[in-house]
Order: sequence, then structure tokens, then C-alpha cells
Amino acid sequence: MTVKTLVTGFPRIGENRELKKVLENYWAHKVPFDEVEDTARALRKKHWLLQKDSGIDFISSNDFSLYDNMLDTMVMLGAVPERFAGIADKNERYFAMARGNGTAAMEMTKWFNTNYHFIVPELSDDLVFRLDPAKVLSEYREAKAAGVTTKINVIGPLTFLGLSKTKDGGGSFKYLHKILPVYKRLLEEIAKLDESVYVQFDEPAFVKNPSGTILSLIRETYGELAAAGGGINIIVTTYFEHAVEAVKPLCDTPIWGIGLDFLYGQRNVEALEYAASKHIIAGIVDGRNIWRGDLSAGLELLERIHKVVPKEQIVVSTSCSLLHSPWSVKNEPESPIKKHLAFAREKVEEVSLLAKLFASGCLSETEKSVLEENKGNLLSGSNPVPVKNDKTGDRPAESGRKTRDGTYRERSALQKSRLNLPLLPATTIGSFPQTPELRKARNDYRKGLIPETVYEAAVKNYIDDCVAFQEEIGLDVLVHGEPERNDMVEYFGELLEGFHFTKNGWVQSYGSRCVKPPVIFGDISRPEPMTVKWIRYAQSKTKKPVKGMLTGPVTILNWSFVRNDIPRPAVAKQIARALSDEIADLQKAGITIIQVDEAAFREGYPLRKENTDEYEQWALEAFRLAVSTADVSTQIHTHMCYSEFNDIIKTIEAMDADVLTVETARSGNKLLRVFKETAYQNEIGPGVYDIHSPRIPSAAEFREQILARLEVIDKNKMWVNPDCGLKTRTWEEVRPALKNMTKAAAAVREEIARTQDR
Ligand code: GLN
Ligand code: ZN
Repeated sequence: MTVKTLVTGFPRIGENRELKKVLENYWAHKVPFDEVEDTARALRKKHWLLQKDSGIDFISSNDFSLYDNMLDTMVMLGAVPERFAGIADKNERYFAMARGNGTAAMEMTKWFNTNYHFIVPELSDDLVFRLDPAKVLSEYREAKAAGVTTKINVIGPLTFLGLSKTKDGGGSFKYLHKILPVYKRLLEEIAKLDESVYVQFDEPAFVKNPSGTILSLIRETYGELAAAGGGINIIVTTYFEHAVEAVKPLCDTPIWGIGLDFLYGQRNVEALEYAASKHIIAGIVDGRNIWRGDLSAGLELLERIHKVVPKEQIVVSTSCSLLHSPWSVKNEPESPIKKHLAFAREKVEEVSLLAKLFASGCLSETEKSVLEENKGNLLSGSNPVPVKNDKTGDRPAESGRKTRDGTYRERSALQKSRLNLPLLPATTIGSFPQTPELRKARNDYRKGLIPETVYEAAVKNYIDDCVAFQEEIGLDVLVHGEPERNDMVEYFGELLEGFHFTKNGWVQSYGSRCVKPPVIFGDISRPEPMTVKWIRYAQSKTKKPVKGMLTGPVTILNWSFVRNDIPRPAVAKQIARALSDEIADLQKAGITIIQVDEAAFREGYPLRKENTDEYEQWALEAFRLAVSTADVSTQIHTHMCYSEFNDIIKTIEAMDADVLTVETARSGNKLLRVFKETAYQNEIGPGVYDIHSPRIPSAAEFREQILARLEVIDKNKMWVNPDCGLKTRTWEEVRPALKNMTKAAAAVREEIARTQDR
């Protein structure tokens, strides 16, 4: 017998990021839209054919997108916000929604717990939902013309609504009765395409502790959809976690199959008893990491599923769309870790291979040797990457310390007398504008085109200017500006042992933007100080304190690909130890304030409520371990670029940073109230400068912002600072803006002093 195979979705950016390049040229008016279409068509064809050649049965169409699939779904449903409705040209309108054009772009946010960002739908009563099936239908026909009969991917209505925001701030599910008819019309159109068509509705929202309301909507929605399209086989696909609650109501509807992620949602096995009559799309090849899969473990998993579900109803699949994985390992240079890697292209092969092995039941000698070979290529297999047993790996934290000395009260008193800062101290978050000259110097140095001395001079020059400027406008706590860093994680990854950098491991982050996350594969250690040279230099140029600037352990971990045979908490701990050594060295160099950025702390939260405690515990431990070497009189800052703290305030409190700077320029006081309500003790720097916008706020506006924040934050605990780092802005914007910010801080400080004198 044969076992069928399915790939949930394939990366669309292209082997050489062709889509990125053509889109950016089109946006820069360098090429006409036709060229974008040609590239897109060529990419789709290439991706369909390579999956076909690998023997995949269910290959997706409509997994492609010129920007984002949620945005495509808005277009498909006619959910175009009014401010864009007047743009006559279809493509212009599409990209205006994504990127703005005079009017503000639509909001973008992270897709579940991945680093992929989608465009957030804005729903309102005045929207007229109307089907536009053009993209869905034409991609199916295009594939068919290329000799591939596809399954059609569509984002399911409940996930679409669950991720939408509404103009009136109310719940979004009230629009279900409006969009469901449009989805039904879509299925009617799809039904005309062929005698029997497969449609995959992506419903990852089902894995996030679905409420009773959602569970009842599942039955209703898929009951109706399954009835609507004659000859259509509906697959409802979930991923990133288990969907145990949703399986039962789904199985009460006449859908054809259910996609379940058995890697990130191991509890899915428990739900199989309800699903024995359905086809099970078994997600067992990891769609979101970069490591070779363990084929034997995959086979065991398939056998477990087979105990409940007949073999002919099992479809071997990826755990989620391969969108979250880079393109192919074959483009990587030789390295000790290459044989351990599997990117999208190789994962497709794994799906196919697993199905063959599973189908054959009793393995032949050749098949056994395939498994043997696979074992040898696994990280934890017979031939692992050598891991060094170095000083940070296993050694107990210095003096067994797990957290720093002193209560906040004790530390604060010492820091106050040591630092002697004014009321409402003004500071920035770390980076200053990255100029073209700076980028060039960094690149030239990397390529060996300029000697270290020339490069160092360039960086020092930048620091000189940066410090002089901050002195001139009167900021209280200075930074060196981060001129030596291209990226806050990559910089540290390159200086720590245990990291590997791929050459082509690009993953789409949003629109045309791709990131190349570092790979953590060995024990992490710090051969030498990483930041001391630069911070010490900056400090030598001023009497005011210069902040040491580090990226936190949880953020370094969350923004890297981590080997999957070592628990994440253990890796976080190793990073934390390395950072704690750096803090000790910074102190020795006379640095009095050190900031440990945790920009990605929040996005690491698990999707399931029941798992948050565990994450919070080890993430917290890692952060506390990282700062454990800080003296009582050293002021520790942490920075987080978001403003939603309501649900994690206890953890923020437990992190116990002396000063926490956050993003609030857009959201205002609303989300800050929680700090007041919970009587948060430590100091807070609420962002008053929206660094995502090129706008330069006036001193009067800054004053308003500061006064507003003082309604919820005690004046003795408040700092004045921007929302985040300034590296994406220009000096022309930053100079006047920071000047105005500092001026406003001084003005409010005086106003407070005057009222106190009276
Ligand atoms: N210190 C970093 C900077 O200013 C922080 C960046 C971030 O939080 N994303 O660039
Ligand atoms: Zn930030």
C-alpha cells in the first residue's frame, strides 16, 4: 500500500530571495508590476514542481503571497478598510494596506509564537464583505497548467476573526454571519474548478485554549462550509500546539480531514479516539526548525497514530507551513553542522521518505540503512557535534549565586547616592542612527578590506560624536550608540562560542523582510569580554554615567534557532552565565549602569496557558542569573519594546530590574495603569518618543506626554526616554527630537520643584 503525503505550505520568498528583490525594486519604481508577476509565477512553478518531484501528494496553492496571507484573505473577503477603498489600482491598494502611502499602514503583529508578522484585519459595521476569488482560482489553474493538481490553502474564518481587531473595540466573532456566506460562495467557485478539490482551512487559533464560544462556532462553521461545496474535501489544519478541545466538535462535522501537529502538540494523540473516522494529516516533520528530523521517532509516532486510525486514513505531513524554515541546506558551505541541517527543501524529502517507510511496514535492508544513516546525522545521534566543556558550560555560577544581592530598596538607596541623578532622569534606549558610512566601515572590516585600526577609529569617532551630542543636549544617562552592532542578537552570537551562522538561512519575517537567525549548536561560552572596550571608551569621554548595553539571555535564545536535543532552559542558563561574566567585567571597568535588553521576552510565551508557569520560571531564572553578578550599587536596567504587561506583571516584578524602560508613546497610559494598580516598586521609563515614526515631536508635545505619564507613575520613580533604540531613524530626526525631549524633561522637573517650594 502507499501512504499519502502533504506539505502544509512552502516558503515563497525564493531560493535566492527573488521575491524580496523584485518587490523592493517595484516599490522603488525600478521595475513594472509585470516583472513582479513574472517572478512570482516562476517561483510558484518551481516550488510546485519540486514538491511533485519529491512525491508529495497534497501540494498547496494559495500558500503564495506577495506580502501576507492574512492580507490576501482580507482582499478575498472584501474587508478593505475605508481609508484604502478609494485607491483604484488593485496592486497599489494592496501594498498601501501593507505599507501605508500617506495614510497609516495597517497594524502588523506576530503570527502566533513565530517571528512571522501578519497584517491585522480591521473590521467595522460599514464593511461590505464581497467575494474576490481571483487569486485562489487563478493559482489553482496555474498549477494545473504546470501539471500539478493542488490542494487550496485558505485561512479559516475563525482564525481570521480571532486575529482581527474591530473599529468599535468589541468582539470580532459578531462578523461571522457576514463572512461565512462569502466563504461559502468561495467554495461554490472552487467546486467548479474540478470534480474533486481539496481545500485546507488553516485554523491555528484552535490551539490557544479555545473558549466554549469558539468550540460551538467550530461545529456551526464547518458544518455549514462542508455542506456548501459539493465535491470539495475539507481539511482543517491546526499547528504549533495541540488542538485537543477542537477535535471533537470538528469531528462532528462532515469534513474530510484534520491536520494535527504531533511535535509541538504531543497531546494530540489523546484526541485521536474522536477522530478515527477522519483522515489525519499527521504533522511529524518539524516545519519551524532547521534540524534533520529523527526518522525512527517519526515512524514510532506514526505507529502510535495507527493504533487508533487506519493506515489509509493517515497522511504524513509537515508540522506547519515550511514558511518558517529557510530554503535549502544545499546552498550552505561545508561546516561541522551541515549534515545535521534540514531546511524546507530537505523537509519535503523527509515527509516523502517517512511515508514510504511507514507504508512498507516491514523494513527492507536498504530502508534500515536509511534509518541508520539518519541516526548518524542527528544532533543527539551517534555522531554529535562536539560540545566543549568549558568554563561557562558546567561550572556553578560564581559563588553559587543565582540572583543578585539586596532588595530593591537597599539597592536603590545606594544607587541614588552613587549616581546622583536628577528627578525624571532622561536617557535613551541604546542605539543611535546607523549611518551609511558606519555600515560601510563594518562591512569593509568584515571583508578584510580595512585593518582593525581603521575600523576602530571609525567606531570611536562615532562614539565621540554620539557622546558629545548627548552631553550637549543635557541627557542624564548616556549611551555609546551601538555603532559596532548590526543586530542586537547577531553581535553577541558572533562573539560567543557555540553559535553558528548560516550563509543562506533566510526566513521571511514580514513582507519582503527576511531574517537570518543565528544557530545555537554547542555549549555557549564567552572567550573574551564583548562590550567592555567600547563602553569603557565612551565612559572615558564623559563624567556622566554611560550605560553598559547587553542583550538578555531570553531574547538571544528566542531569536536564534536552538538545537532541539538540549532543553531550552539549559541553553538560556548558559547564555545567562556568559552575560553575568560580562557584567562583572563592565563593573570592573567602572561602569555603574548596565542595561540588559529583553525585547523578545514576551514573544517566547507558550500558546497554552497551562505552559506559561514553566516558561516564566526558567526565563526568569535566566534573567536573574544574568544580572546576578551586579553589585548592589550597580543600577540594572532592562528594556522591553511593548506595552502589554497586564498578564505578566508578576514576572516583570520578579525580574526586579532597578529600572524598566517600555514602549508607550502610542498606547499612552492605558496599559501602564497596571503598574500603579499592582503597586510596582521599581523605577519605570515609559517611552514618550515614538521611534517608529519619522515625525519630530515638539517640546510641548513631549511635555504633554511626560505629564500624562506622571498621572500613573510616581515622579520619584519615573524616567524619560524614547520607546526603543534609534538605529532605524536618521540623525536629522533624532537630533531635534531628543533635544525637545530633554528640554521637556527639564521643564517638567522645574515645574515640580517650583510646586514643591511653595
Ligand atoms: N538597545 C537596543 C537598541 O537600542 C534595544 C533594541 C530593542 O529593544 N529592540 O537598539
Ligand atoms: Zn525596544
